[in-house]
Amino acid sequence: MLMELTARQKRYRRYREHLLADPEMHENNLKIRHALYKKHKEEYRRKQREYSQRLRDEAIVKLGGKCAKCGITDIRVLQIDHINGGGERERTKGRRYQGILLDIRDKSEEYIKQHYQLLCANCNWIKRYERGEHNQF
Ligand SMILES: [Zn+2]
Repeated sequence: MLMELTARQKRYRRYREHLLADPEMHENNLKIRHALYKKHKEEYRRKQREYSQRLRDEAIVKLGGKCAKCGITDIRVLQIDHINGGGERERTKGRRYQGILLDIRDKSEEYIKQHYQLLCANCNWIKRYERGEHNQF
């Protein structure tokens, strides 16, 4: 399904075309951005953390806020589980984890319920054990 671009995405796309037309400006722009990043590194990182945290909180609320197996609601132990497997692989890659959170933010409720659920850490381990995905030590 093709998603309508947001105003921000359109702006970014125009900006990118603009930059690609002028490599020198692109180069300068990267230098400026790198310098800004170095100068404000802590703030950027804090904002990124807060953003990830907010995405996770929103995803947990949207998924019902409790473990699908035992019903525990303690947010500290809840994990987002990919119902059709592959969860472990995806979760270990930060970028893809964020992709999952964005998926949950943007997709329809029906889609989300088909693909994701909340499990607490214990139920998640039990599920993995039953599927033979647990570590052997
Ligand atoms: Zn549970």
